[in-house]
This record gives sequence, C-alpha cells and structure tokens, in this order.
Amino acid sequence: MNQQYPSILLEKAVGEFSKLPGIGRKTAMRLVLHLLRQDTATVEAFGNSIITLKREVKYCKVCHNISDTEICQICSNSQRDASTVCVVENIRDVMAVEATQQYRGIYHVLGGVISPMDGVGPSDLQIESLVQRVAEGGINEVILALSTTMEGDTTNFYIYRKLEKMNVKLSVIARGISVGDELEYADEVTLGRSIVNRTLFTGTV
Ligand SMILES: [Zn+2]
Repeated sequence: MNQQYPSILLEKAVGEFSKLPGIGRKTAMRLVLHLLRQDTATVEAFGNSIITLKREVKYCKVCHNISDTEICQICSNSQRDASTVCVVENIRDVMAVEATQQYRGIYHVLGGVISPMDGVGPSDLQIESLVQRVAEGGINEVILALSTTMEGDTTNFYIYRKLEKMNVKLSVIARGISVGDELEYADEVTLGRSIVNRTLFTGTV
C-alpha cells in the first residue's frame, strides 16, 4: 500500500527509522513525529550522539570490546584477573556477564559464531587473535560462553581444536542455560551460576 506523505523530508526520515530492527513504518512515523515536536537542541543532540558514536567509537585492541580508548576499561583494570579469558559472541554478552558481578577475569569478543548458513566462517571472527593471545602466554584459562545453539557448539569445538595443544585450561559455562538460549536472555543469577559452575571442555558436546 502506497502511503501519501505530505513531505519528502518526512517520508525520508520515516524510511530511515523503519530500517531499524523491530521498527515498522507505523512506529517509525510515531517516533519521527515525536522528534518533530521536540525543540531543535534536543533533536540535534539526538542526531549528533549517533553520528559521534559511529565516528569515534573504538574497539579494544586486546579483547575487541567496544571502548572509548585503545584498551578498554576492563582490560586496563589491574584489579581484574588477566589470566582468565571469557570468550563471548558480542558486546551485549560482555554486558550480560558483567551484570552478574560473578566474573573477575577479562574477555574476548568474537563478533559472532561460525555459521555456514549465514556465510560466517572462522576468518570472519576474532578467533585467530584469541589463539594469538593464548600463544603470547599469561592466560591460564579460557572460558567458552557462547550460545547453546548448533553454531555456538561448532564454534566451541573449532576453538577447542585450535587451543588443545596449547598449555591452557579450556572450560565451558554450565548448561544451566537451556539449549538454544542466548546469553543475553539469561537472567543474571542463572548466568552468574553458569560461570561459577563451569566445567572442563573436552571437545564432546
Ligand atoms: Zn579490552
């Protein structure tokens, strides 16, 4: 159905908003009209925050977490246990694990999981840099905290094969989280417990 917009500018703005995940054209229209009702300074602050975020955001050189600095706050915190590395899919997972307040180690953000269906192979992810970190020494334990999906399991196994000959303990978070669950949907208590009760990863699922 072709909707008639009274303004091309309005149509364009609605079009941009409706590209966002979970935002249909109706919601997009509501958001745009809401912004239009705000004063100019508010709308400018909104627009600028997105532009500045995209232009200036950095990714930690060590763990690939989102950061305002070259090395993120977690990696540069001397109170954290740098000998334990928790491997997660994305930045939201770092936030989920941090929210449990049960983990004192550092992270490694893969940027996804191996998924041939979606055309994501090992080289599209930060796996080589993980192997590199372990090879450099100082890491005693790598904790796999990926989703309990087939893709997560495939990635766990791939990492296991890469690290099995290296002198590092490989563990996997307890499967208190049911199969198919993503980390970010687990509640803090469950996720915290899964990390505390992690088990040795032996390559079998
Ligand atoms: Zn970092």
